[in-house]
Amino acid sequence: MITNSINAYEEAKQVIPGGVDSPVRAFKGVGGTPVFIDRGEGAYLFDIDDNKYVDFVQSWGPLIFGHADKDIENAVIQTAKKGLSFGAPTLLETELANEIVEMFDCIDKVRFVSSGTEAVMSAIRLARGVTGKNDIVKFIGCYHGHSDSLLVSAGSGLATFGTPSSPGVPADLTKHTLLCEYNNIENLRRCFSDSKDISCVIIEPIAGNMGLVPASKEFLAEIRKLCDESGALLIFDEVMSGFRASLKGATGILDTKPDIITFGKVIGAGMPVGAFASSKEIMAHLSPDGAVYQAGTLSGNPVAMAAGIASLKKLKANPEIYNDLSKKARYLVDGLKTEATKAGISLQVDTRGSMFGFFFCDSVPTNFAEVGKCDFGRFASFHQEMLKEGYYFACSQYEAGFMCSAITYDDIDGCVEAAARVFSKL
Ligand SMILES: *Cc1c(COP(=O)(O)O)cnc(C)c1O
Repeated sequence: MITNSINAYEEAKQVIPGGVDSPVRAFKGVGGTPVFIDRGEGAYLFDIDDNKYVDFVQSWGPLIFGHADKDIENAVIQTAKKGLSFGAPTLLETELANEIVEMFDCIDKVRFVSSGTEAVMSAIRLARGVTGKNDIVKFIGCYHGHSDSLLVSAGSGLATFGTPSSPGVPADLTKHTLLCEYNNIENLRRCFSDSKDISCVIIEPIAGNMGLVPASKEFLAEIRKLCDESGALLIFDEVMSGFRASLKGATGILDTKPDIITFGKVIGAGMPVGAFASSKEIMAHLSPDGAVYQAGTLSGNPVAMAAGIASLKKLKANPEIYNDLSKKARYLVDGLKTEATKAGISLQVDTRGSMFGFFFCDSVPTNFAEVGKCDFGRFASFHQEMLKEGYYFACSQYEAGFMCSAITYDDIDGCVEAAARVFSKL
């Protein structure tokens, strides 16, 4: 029974467009009514009808310890008692910056913002400011937030100028965004031979916004090479994979190193935080040191910083957590695959650290077009039935799943058993 959620959704739709503040929450990809959440406890979500769900979304990634983690909660409460915002520097910003910077050889300085969108938007401005060039290269299927120049889709043909993917974005603002196919080296080479005005290449090195689709090593190495040859900067968008794929994100487990890294999600532990980071030479171009302007009234918000510090400190004190999380993620998707196979359903599964993905298709997708060939109807039925069974998966095949430390092997066993029942009906 989700009667209260159904009513709440109707009421929300009266005053909030589509009843939600971020479109994916509306369940458009899977049908049905989004459940309204009352509270979270560790691995579990409780909706306003008091149904309990094992949560494999974890706020789309930020909650690596699960809901209402005591250490993070305490840090937030203690900090909030001292005032919510000052618009002046606090020690907490330097502390979180140090926590992040010390993890990566390739970055010296970090600037905090309030969302992943803002982090990426600012990183691109910085790359353009540093190089004095205008074009950016983006890969189809990677999501980098909703700023104008990144809301692009491929027109006809590949390696072409992006066309706006949303009304309200002038084509003048997307004409500098060059689109390439993910994991397609030839395509990327063509892009670099077509334009001599490329300021940066931005990529999710482990894509999590077209389902989970990792970039190949060769592909990343080729991007690095082409950037170095042309003087373009390489931006790893680690808003999702940062402190998720490993303690050092994707950057830590890949051979290729970026010039700029963007963060979000886990570094705020559920509070609104984003960040972009780079070498001191590149960051010297950012205001107030340099001329590239960037600002934010609530940037580096003390309560958000406190949540991030508590989360990163706890991760660093328990580095084995990544091993545990990736084992659990692997255990889950292997279980799902086994049961799907028994039911005669083709399921492709993969994990990177605590991120996992599964696709209803016959071969492992390596780019957006291939993900598009998956069986979306089957995914929708699976999602709806699993929700009834008490398992909360991302409501789109284009989203990754997230393991948190609070989820137990018993939770996962229960999930796989439920999935077996569901697969037999699909
Ligand atoms: C979530 C996400 C963003 C956008 O972050 P918001 O906080 O939603 O603005 C950008 N890039 C990637 C890779 C993301 O996963």
